[in-house]
Amino acid sequence: MKKYLLLALAACACPRPLAAEAPARPETCTYEVYNWNIYKKRGVNRKLIRHPYAELKAGEKDPATGCTVCLEDQKLLKVGSLEPFKACSKIADKLQAVLEKLLKEGEPVLEVTAYRPGKTRDPLDPEGNRTGFSNHAYGAAVDINRSRNGLYDGCQKPGPACRLIQGGAWEPGRVGTLTKDSKITREMRAAGFKWGGEIEGDQKDFMHFSLSGY
Ligand SMILES: [Zn+2]
Repeated sequence: MKKYLLLALAACACPRPLAAEAPARPETCTYEVYNWNIYKKRGVNRKLIRHPYAELKAGEKDPATGCTVCLEDQKLLKVGSLEPFKACSKIADKLQAVLEKLLKEGEPVLEVTAYRPGKTRDPLDPEGNRTGFSNHAYGAAVDINRSRNGLYDGCQKPGPACRLIQGGAWEPGRVGTLTKDSKITREMRAAGFKWGGEIEGDQKDFMHFSLSGY
């Protein structure tokens, strides 16, 4: 079918027949960056970055998703009565559809955030500033119900040894708390997002979803 469509387009004399399908690349890339400081436990060095989109640096684009740190590549999502939030336009439609479905089915999606263009990942510089972009910086990761699904450290497996470092306490059984079997987690997984509660290693990020899980 596709082959015939291409042939038909090739035969057509109309100018640039595929132009309508290829989204225009933005002219500029704008974002407000910061470094997460591990001693101050807050964002520091906030500054506005703006440069031609053609001059994107390697770290400013996520090779896995094609999402970038640029505000120009984010879409504002308005879902039900949730506070509007920005996410990478490449995952936005998929995300909108799954959240709308969950809300329609009465699932307790209470808070959602995605895009935060900060450097919150290692490597660390000598002042304790993180210098790497996380998946949130590209708008490619989503946090759901942060106040009931914290980020824990020292947590190979969920249990008493786990130490809450961000967000609210994770108490399975509470409305809005996510587990691997809750409907929100299952629907997000079906849409291609991995859950941060199942990532390997010391940290469990129960609010977090992304294509890689990190
Ligand atoms: Zn997250």
